[in-house]
Amino acid sequence: MCVATFSFRQHGLRNEPRLLTPQRACAQTTHLFLLMRLQTSAEFVMFDHRVFVNRSLTLENIKCYGFDMDYTLATYKSPDYESLGFELMRDRMVSVGYPHELLRYTYDPSFPTRGLVIDTIYGNLLKVDANGNILVCSHGFHFLKGDQIHSYYPNKFIQRDDTDRFYILNTLFNLSETYLYACLVDFFTRCTRYTNLLKGYQHGDLFMSFRSMFQDVRDAMDFIHDTGVLKEQTIKNLDKYLSRDPQLPQLLTRIKEIAKVFLATNSDYNYTEPGSEIKSWRSFFDLIVVDTRKPLFFAEGTVLRQVDTNTGKLRIGTYTGDLQHGTVYSGGSSDIVCDLLDVKGKDILYIGDHIFGDILKSKKRQGWKTFLVVPELAKELQVWEEKKSKNKEAQSATGQQQSRVS
Ligand SMILES: [Mg+2]
Repeated sequence: MCVATFSFRQHGLRNEPRLLTPQRACAQTTHLFLLMRLQTSAEFVMFDHRVFVNRSLTLENIKCYGFDMDYTLATYKSPDYESLGFELMRDRMVSVGYPHELLRYTYDPSFPTRGLVIDTIYGNLLKVDANGNILVCSHGFHFLKGDQIHSYYPNKFIQRDDTDRFYILNTLFNLSETYLYACLVDFFTRCTRYTNLLKGYQHGDLFMSFRSMFQDVRDAMDFIHDTGVLKEQTIKNLDKYLSRDPQLPQLLTRIKEIAKVFLATNSDYNYTEPGSEIKSWRSFFDLIVVDTRKPLFFAEGTVLRQVDTNTGKLRIGTYTGDLQHGTVYSGGSSDIVCDLLDVKGKDILYIGDHIFGDILKSKKRQGWKTFLVVPELAKELQVWEEKKSKNKEAQSATGQQQSRVS
């Protein structure tokens, strides 16, 4: 139900990114092309296996490659995985007291996209540009027109830095959360038992603010992660939720021949172990760190412990010794990774999917080189290309008309 007639996804890129084509790239870059997890269906093939850069990078100077796991090395199948997250959160919301009618909602992958902003005061979903100008605004699944947007935001602008009010949906894990929030707003707005107010809904002597609904969605997200219910379902149905990449072992082997390789993931050991599905997976890495708590990992970090790989439990005490191959560590910090691997931050290329947790913090705090995995880019570029060709057609038609008139 509730299929949106208009989608945030229809809005493509505004600026053309610089493309690093295979012809222009240096030979060492070949490894990295394999990392791009862009969709390979025919409609996306023209943008497959491409790397975009915002500065030049000499890969032969990179002495160490670091990887995030979720949505980077471990690619989840979309939309099945987001749909699972949505259903688990939706069920959690009902179990804590939200109306059972919510169970009628199912996940629609065409609606949400990464980078949207939730306005926790008015319950709106916003797509904004880098300066905070509002491009698209929806209330539930209802997309607001210009004057409606102006009534909420007189300058059609938001202060993105106001993180108390505006929550940026940065990760692919947030997609299901985004959709669930839109479902809640859609439901309560249309349900006759509730009165619509500017900042929430009234039901008898109960007031439910958009802010409290947002917090409940966040809590449901934490619940499905912290209790392990999402992991449990994923591991039970690995083929349904996880993409297998037969080239991945070869890629990691090749990189390890020329540089050090490490894994730094926020997931815990028990999740990382079966997620790899390859018996000797640990041999692909010089260092494995789980429970990293990025972005804290790129600042003061946490206590470094060893993981007992037989039981999955953490050994007591802080690990202070040298790097032991085949050992899995928990916690720690980016400084500890540099010490254990004997590399400097500037010599590391870190590859991840989280713009804030993986990329911004590692670059700004530690000077690491960074590589962002953006699976949506194929679709975004397709939209951008289509719009470009339509504009050209329109321009040439206008030109022909003008020449006929003159
Ligand atoms: Mg990730």
